[in-house]
Amino acid sequence: FMVLAPWRGGSTVVSRTDPTTGPLLTARGLHKSFGATEVLRGFDLTLHRGEVVVLIGPSGSGKTTVLRALNGLETPDAGTIAMSGGPEIDFAPEVRPKPRVAKQQRLALRDRSAMVFQHHNLFPHLTVLENPDLLLFDEPTSALDPELVGEVLLVIKELADEGWTMAVVTHELSFAREAADHVLFLDGGVVVEQGPPAQLFSAPQHERTQRFLTRIL
Ligand code: ADP
Repeated sequence: FMVLAPWRGGSTVVSRTDPTTGPLLTARGLHKSFGATEVLRGFDLTLHRGEVVVLIGPSGSGKTTVLRALNGLETPDAGTIAMSGGPEIDFAPEVRPKPRVAKQQRLALRDRSAMVFQHHNLFPHLTVLENPDLLLFDEPTSALDPELVGEVLLVIKELADEGWTMAVVTHELSFAREAADHVLFLDGGVVVEQGPPAQLFSAPQHERTQRFLTRIL
């Protein structure tokens, strides 16, 4: 894994929400375009402490962009993100702050989460745990030697069992079945369907979810 550790200590924003109650993370109506491509078209996510959410969906559906936005690596064009204890960051153009403040907001999000990327064929460095709040995994096993996949998924499952809050993008449905509290199916930059894995995988309601699951199962 390549771990992007928070590189700036301390929060740069004044605390406004109660850190002890309510969700750890709330994202509402996230929009993001790259040129003419609208990648996120109103993405919503509520994540409570200790909760494990798995994001599934076809390639290009916006999963990585979601994680990057939550980690402050990408600035949405519209929508809000709030982490418990921090302010609600509003990305709407009308209220967008000056670049310096916007950068502080991104850094504040970075302080609160650690992102684990897919690219490096390395066994996990648990430096990721230096960050107390939210773990974001972007296809953590997709670049691994098949023999290592199970081992890495087991490590992630153990972290989940220890109570870490995490959002995981993966095509490993058996992992999702075992580890996820909640599965989100994304298509075209929106959550088409969501629910506990047993429900979503066994009885998908939406035709697009059914088609996707049939193809990858
Ligand atoms: P997923 O993770 O579901 O495969 P992504 O969030 O990676 O989807 O990408 C969604 C779409 O956005 C893709 O079509 C991708 O090419 C495009 N995209 C992502 N990042 C950029 C970028 N920095 N510049 C241009 N296009 C991008």
